[in-house]
Amino acid sequence: MAPDSLSIWTKHIRGIEFHSAFRPAHCPTCKPYSAATLAAGEDWGQIYTAASDLNLTFVGGTGDTIGLGGYVTGGGHSPLNAMLGLAADQVLEMQVVLASGEIVKANEKLNRDLFWAMRGVRSTATLVLSIETDSGVGRWSHFRSHDLRHTQDIP
Ligand SMILES: Cc1cc2nc3c(=O)[nH]c(=O)nc-3n(C[C@H](O)[C@H](O)[C@H](O)COP(=O)(O)OP(=O)(O)OC[C@H]3O[C@@H](n4cnc5c(N)ncnc54)[C@H](O)[C@@H]3O)c2cc1C
Repeated sequence: MAPDSLSIWTKHIRGIEFHSAFRPAHCPTCKPYSAATLAAGEDWGQIYTAASDLNLTFVGGTGDTIGLGGYVTGGGHSPLNAMLGLAADQVLEMQVVLASGEIVKANEKLNRDLFWAMRGVRSTATLVLSIETDSGVGRWSHFRSHDLRHTQDIP
């Protein structure tokens, strides 16, 4: 760690919650999404395991140990990118701690500049607490690296 820097261990910020009809805050006209709220301390192994019973598909990392925060704020590459876009493109809303300590939500209607910046820039001045992300229904919830042999089956 650099001198005078602050490091926050997110491992114990846990939680995976599925929604059949999630609407981002301050957007009553937004269409409802099949979505999940994923807490910062979750990794893709845990998320895939939770999603598998529900047959949900996430654009996630190919390694089970990849953390949600660094992956999504870095853009998020997946074998599904060609069909669905980056993981950052699936994000519907984020709960973020600003450097001031304030906790805010960010989505397409609320704190739009922050929402844009948090999806690919990987800021070190903010902390993502949780992410609401689109979770389409499909057969690819287990899409890990060992499943790459099945990519030819994707329509
Ligand atoms: C085995 C393996 C497989 C991988 N496979 C893929 C892949 O398929 N696709 C892909 O795109 N990438 C892949 N990666 C790269 C991976 O996405 C990055 O290493 C990513 O940074 C991991 O995030 P993390 O939260 O686990 O890492 P960390 O080292 O904890 O964090 C990395 C950066 O993200 C920031 N960060 C972490 N959490 C938060 C948060 N909650 N809020 C704000 N900032 C945060 C940290 O400050 C740091 O700057 C892989 C990496 C490994 C080791």
